[in-house]
Formats: sequence, structure tokens, C-alpha cells
Amino acid sequence: MIKVSLAKGDGIGPEIMDATLRILHAAGADLTFEEIEVGEKVYLSGNSTGISNEAWETIRRNKIILKAPITTPQGGGYKSLNVTMRKTLGLYSNVRPCKSLHPFVTTKHPEMDVVIVRENEEDLYAGIEHQQTDEVVQCLKLISRPGCEKIVTYAFEYAKKYGRKKVTCFTKDNIMKQTDGLFHKVFDEVASRYPEIINEHWIVDIGSALLADSPEKFDVIVTPNLYGDVVSDIAAQITGSVGLAGSANIGDECSMFEAIHGSAPDIAGKNIANPSGLINGAVMMLNHVGQSDIAENIQNAWLRTIEDGIHTNDIYDSIMSTKKVGTKEFADAVIANLGNKPKQLPAVLFEDNTPLILPKYQRRPSKSKSVVGVDLFVDWNGYDANELAHQLKKLNNDELKLSLITNRGIKVWPNGFDETFCTDHWRCRYLAKEGQELTKGKIVDILQSAIENNIDAIKTENLYTFDGKRGYSLGQGQ
Ligand code: NAD
Repeated sequence: MIKVSLAKGDGIGPEIMDATLRILHAAGADLTFEEIEVGEKVYLSGNSTGISNEAWETIRRNKIILKAPITTPQGGGYKSLNVTMRKTLGLYSNVRPCKSLHPFVTTKHPEMDVVIVRENEEDLYAGIEHQQTDEVVQCLKLISRPGCEKIVTYAFEYAKKYGRKKVTCFTKDNIMKQTDGLFHKVFDEVASRYPEIINEHWIVDIGSALLADSPEKFDVIVTPNLYGDVVSDIAAQITGSVGLAGSANIGDECSMFEAIHGSAPDIAGKNIANPSGLINGAVMMLNHVGQSDIAENIQNAWLRTIEDGIHTNDIYDSIMSTKKVGTKEFADAVIANLGNKPKQLPAVLFEDNTPLILPKYQRRPSKSKSVVGVDLFVDWNGYDANELAHQLKKLNNDELKLSLITNRGIKVWPNGFDETFCTDHWRCRYLAKEGQELTKGKIVDILQSAIENNIDAIKTENLYTFDGKRGYSLGQGQ
């Protein structure tokens, strides 16, 4: 018997979890559950992580988690426990199928059947943020080659295994050439190993617009963490409701299954939430642990219930719905339909739904890395970049010379425009002569000299080349 760590969550969590557990039990799922205390109560009891050590132990022992949505309390700087769990447990792949149930659930997109494969461990979700000046805060966007290779390979392997024809990548690499540029580059590399699967790339803004307008043109979408979060809510919502889609968070060791939506505090405790997202998450879990027959039975009973027009408030429609039901009654109807198949919607047949296990990431040989300069970030509340440049040139030394000043990324010196709005946050680039070997100590000299000249240096960022290729962006307008 499979032991599952169970988190009942916050808001609508306990209601939709109760509905899901009753269905699992009625269908004869061979599972036992060990409940863990996580989320709002734990945060508010003074544990700023939202999870106790005992809960971690249970999770690591059982390896499979079924989790209802968790509320991250606003204010107080609490970190999202969802993100903490995904990252701590190495759940790198977040798989979110969004399929329309036309004509039984009202949607403008009858043909939609999209799977979003969202990168789950990095990007802006590193949550590394700093206030650096009175006026400017920053958030670090971290994208790694292993992160990209793992998620893109997962998307292609998923497409191969489930007979999907196309994998689309969304990035914003026209702007973020290093971070999103790496994701796109890895996508192209990995795609070339799967010639039988069509591949394409869209800039995320127009890609999302196309997805919202014509989702039938998409099949599998792979994308970095933040875009994946946004795009999967859009995709679920346009099938009829954000309450319909389930989600699997997959790692090498552990996996976690949930709904894609949040804890919906606005409807909590009213018995009106749609439990379908968590039910679908539980179906993915059953497949993952090798109980595909039970998964199939539940999914077909759920489809039949939807087809019967027994609908919760979020998908209720006066034409196609026959009965508006609450969360509990919806679960009762699914239980009553166990053993039945949908009559018009295609019944599911889960043949080979065993987990996808990718080979472990192999680190590549290191490239030749040379330091060629430094970006010195400065807090200065003047406005005239020429005046700042005058002060900053005093920091020049025999190897490093001031070459550029930008403000929020746009070049303001040399030859800046008076029209450019400037904040109190300046990036000041010191470069070594091209081809000259830079002594790292010269960067320390720049910092020391900044202190001596009363320049408020917030931070530095070394500038490197890798195998001779520039590893940093130019200033906008440079
Ligand atoms: P939400 O998804 O909870 O709600 C957005 C809207 O969708 C609300 O109007 C809500 O009533 C509706 N909705 C959501 N699920 C529904 C369902 N099953 N049935 C019917 N209607 C449903 O998003 P939010 O309001 O932005 O977030 C609320 C809380 O959830 C926040 O604390 C957030 O941090 C948390 N959250 C948790 C998770 C997670 O645990 N995986 C994911 C997203 C948000």
C-alpha cells in the first residue's frame, strides 16, 4: 500500500480535499494517508516557514504528497510554502493539463487540449530581493542550464510518451538575452534530438495572446516558472474555470499533486468550490503510483458527472447544466458515477502512465572564464550623469576605466539624453582594455576607492567572458 503525505490546506482546501478523499476511498485507491500540518496556521503560530520539521520528515519518508492550496499570509514577509516545497524537494517539472469539456462546460474554445510544462525551481521564484536605494528594489532572475535542460527534456519526453505532436516554447529572449536566451537556446538544442516532434518558439507576450485566442493551435507548452504560472491560469480559465485543472509537481525522488488554483478565501467554508482541480491532481497521482485502473475509473466518472450537467457554481450554465451542486454533492455525484463512462466526451484509457524518469543531469566540462571588468552599482541622488561620471572617473585605476553609466538599464553616459528619467540607482561599468588580463584585486581597489571618495557603492557584479564570449548584457542604447 502506498503511503501519501496529505496536506488539507487553507481556505477551500479542507472542503475540496474532503471531497477528493471520499472519491479516492469509494474508488478503492490503495493508499494510506499521513496528515501533515502546513500553511496558514503554522505560519501564524510563529513558524515563518509555514512547515514543521516533523512535516518535512513525513514528506521525505513518503515521497508522495497530495496537497490542497495553501494561503500565504499577506504582510510579515512570509515566503510561499508552495514554492519552498517545490524547490526543497527538487520538483522541477510542473505539469498542468488544460482541456475543454465542450459542450458540457461553456468555453469559447471547444477544441482546446493543452499541457503546460512549467519550470518549477528557478527564475524570479528564487525570491532573492533587495532594496538598494530609497527609490529602487530588485529581484534576481536566476536561470540555470541544468534547470533548462531538465524541464525542456521533460516536455519533449512527455510529448513523446503521450503521442503529442508539438512542443512550443515561450520566453522573452528579445529582452532578456542571457536568462531567457539560455532557456530558448537549450530548447533549440533539445528539440533537435526529437525530429519527430514539431517545435516552435513564441515571445511570451504574443504567445499568451495566441493561446488565449486560439488554444487549439497549441499542444505542449514549455516555459520558465513565472510565465508558466500566468499562462496555466489563463489556460485553465479559458477551458471554463480555474477550478478544473490539476497539477503534478515531479522530481527525481518526490512528487506532489495539487490543483492549479489557490485557496480561494472569497468562497471558503461555503461548500461552493469546485473540487475538480484537486480530483484531477489526485488522478495524476494515482497514475504516478501505478494505480492507473483506479485513476481511469475516477476520471471517467468525473467526465460523466460533468456530462450529466451536475455542475458547481463556477461552471454552472443555464443551458448545459442540469443541477447546481455544492462541493460535497459534486463528490457524491462522482462517487455515484464510478464504473460509468462518459457517453459523448471521449472516455480516458490510461495504458502506460508510469512516471517519466529522466537521466541525472551531467555537468559539462567548464568553459574558460575570464574576468574583464565590473559593474559598480551606486546610490546617488543627483540627476546629471555627467556630474556622476566626473566623480566616478576618480575610481579608475591602471587596469579598469569607467566606460558606461546606465540608469535602470538605459545608457545615460556617455552621450545620454536629457529626456531620460533617472532614479537614484546607477550601474557604472568599469572595463579592462580589450584582451588585457584583469587582476581581480583591481575590483577591490575600485570599491576601496569608492569608500575614500564618498561614493555609496551598493554592490558589484563581475563581468566575465566564457570561452571568449561576452557573459553580460550591453546597456540599452549602447
Ligand atoms: P485563487 O486561485 O485562490 O482564486 C482566484 C479566483 O478563482 C477567486 O475568485 C476564487 O474564488 C476562484 N476559484 C479558485 N479556485 C476555485 C475553485 N476550486 N472553485 C471555484 N472557484 C475557484 O487565487 P488568489 O485569490 O490569487 O489566491 C488566494 C491564496 O491562494 C493566496 O494566499 C495565494 O498565495 C494562494 N495560492 C496558493 C496556491 C497553491 O497552494 N498551490 C496557488 C495559487 C495561490
